[in-house]
Amino acid sequence: MENKTPNHSIECSVKQCEYHCQNENYCTLNTVKIATHEANPTVCQCVDCESFVKKSNCSGGNCH
Ligand code: SF4
Repeated sequence: MENKTPNHSIECSVKQCEYHCQNENYCTLNTVKIATHEANPTVCQCVDCESFVKKSNCSGGNCH
């Protein structure tokens, strides 16, 4: 359990990210950078959060 302050303007379910609130599905950063890895994005899956950083104590999809 961590006690990071959730930013309720940035909803996120990526618990494997260092900046995820963990207790609630929100990011803890003030701002995030969103971008695309495609030349011509057409669907949601083309878009990424570039602020993502892999959580250090995550392994095999299990985060604490
Ligand atoms: S940095 Fe991006 S991926 Fe990580 S918790 Fe925030 S919104 Fe989610």
